[in-house]
Amino acid sequence: MNLIEKAVKKVNSGERLHFAEALALYQDNDILKLASLARSVKERKSGKHVYYNVNRHINLTNICVSGCPLCAFGCKAEEERAYVMDKAEVIRIVSQTVKDTPDLSEIHMVSALHPDKPFPYYLEIVAAVKAAAPQVHLKAFTPVEIVHFSNISKLSIKLVLEQLKAAGLDSLPGGGAEILDDSVRKVICPNKATTAEWIEVITTAHSLGLPTNATMLYGHIETIEQRIQHLITLREIQDQTGGFQAFVAFPFHPANTGLAELERVASWEDLKMIALARIILDNFDHVKAFWMMLTLPIAQLALGFGADDLDGTVVEERIIHAAGATTKTGITKKEIIHFVEETGYLAVERDTFYHPLKISSGVKINE
Ligand code: SF4
Repeated sequence: MNLIEKAVKKVNSGERLHFAEALALYQDNDILKLASLARSVKERKSGKHVYYNVNRHINLTNICVSGCPLCAFGCKAEEERAYVMDKAEVIRIVSQTVKDTPDLSEIHMVSALHPDKPFPYYLEIVAAVKAAAPQVHLKAFTPVEIVHFSNISKLSIKLVLEQLKAAGLDSLPGGGAEILDDSVRKVICPNKATTAEWIEVITTAHSLGLPTNATMLYGHIETIEQRIQHLITLREIQDQTGGFQAFVAFPFHPANTGLAELERVASWEDLKMIALARIILDNFDHVKAFWMMLTLPIAQLALGFGADDLDGTVVEERIIHAAGATTKTGITKKEIIHFVEETGYLAVERDTFYHPLKISSGVKINE
């Protein structure tokens, strides 16, 4: 039996793939075989359900000390597009969103690494958001931001997370993982959290009862081997902590970044990565096809390649669009449900913890 046959047999019997088997499946480049394997894993885990939530993104500032070559969002304070929100503005946005969107279940807040805003600014924002919308889950701050808070406050990562949790933080989005290999990070994001720091934040958050997602940014300078190793590292962390809720893969959008000479990988690669992640991450319950990054048509196809979540309605998004994403900045529930139902799956509105709230047949579960 060759490596590919062995890999197929293992996936079909629910066994874990080794690095070499995963690499063989990738190199085989048989996308329909990958789709069928990944889809069977997805259906074992979440049946016919495909999840989405009603959320709102808030990006507090784009002023950043880090200057990562991969980034089109961050800028210097003197640039015309620079902005920073004060507490009153954040509260105004949250209150308006709650008013306009009665089903809102999550606020997703990630930002740049502002040079001057002190750690208490973030604590106050968290407390104010929770006071304005106590029923809404607050998912905020990537591990990269948490390391920044630790640096500016001189508090340990654990103390930073404890204080944020005490102020009302409910979970972390898990961004900024990019590729967990410092030789890659030195080129694409040399000034932000290292691999070890990203892992320390994640494992500390999990130990404090703050769940996170896990992410990967692919399609820049990394090798396929580094992508697979990244997934295996996430799988090892999940074995230890069980604190990851979902995996999200982001294709790199080169426009307006310091790596603008690179080509955006195309759809074939996007679908291979979703399927491969679904197959390798045997201890993750959910794999997200983030429609805003992938475009809606590719996100819909990804549901046939093992993804079981499309993320949310979003309302407004600045980071990905700064890098040239041409997707809309928000989507209605009706549109998401339509996209899911076309695939034959059931669209399930969920909360952040994947508790079903409504399914698309109109059956209301929690009301
Ligand atoms: S990726 Fe994040 S840390 Fe890096 S420049 Fe952009 S906003 Fe700043």
